Amino acid sequence: MFDTPLARILDSRKLCDSQQLITGSIEVAELDGLLSFLESDAGQVKVTLQFQRDDHRRPLITGQVAAKGVEILCQRCLQIDIQELLVGLNVVVVLDESQAEKLPAEYDAWIVEDGQLNIRELLDQELILSLPIVPYHADCKVETQYGDAGSKQQQESPFGVLASLLQKD
Ligand SMILES: [Zn+2]
Repeated sequence: MFDTPLARILDSRKLCDSQQLITGSIEVAELDGLLSFLESDAGQVKVTLQFQRDDHRRPLITGQVAAKGVEILCQRCLQIDIQELLVGLNVVVVLDESQAEKLPAEYDAWIVEDGQLNIRELLDQELILSLPIVPYHADCKVETQYGDAGSKQQQESPFGVLASLLQKD
């Protein structure tokens, strides 16, 4: 069910009124903002979106976004790490900034002025926010070799680590 490419523009209010569930996929290569943080355009994003109205009749989009196979540079060993980015959506579509400011804190706001929701822009933004601040391999060899990065690595200059890595190639 994830094989269908997502439509470029969605009518979010109509979809919310009829409580539509939409699944589909997007290539990571289509997400310009996210791409600028990645080492390549590899990967695919699987999306499940539930459109609905909340108790206050706000147009609400909940769901799951999973970007699989994205290539991020590990900040410890400076090699590519293939990661999966997961985002749980809880987004209310609003008309302007003033509506956005009035939303309860549990919602993210997404401004759509003309009723045309560009779903790629929304997913791009949400995935960027999900990126680790300092990405590294869960089992990074540099960490195993030198122990905890904060404490024991102090005698090793970063350039010394880099030089030893370069010599291995
Ligand atoms: Zn690493």
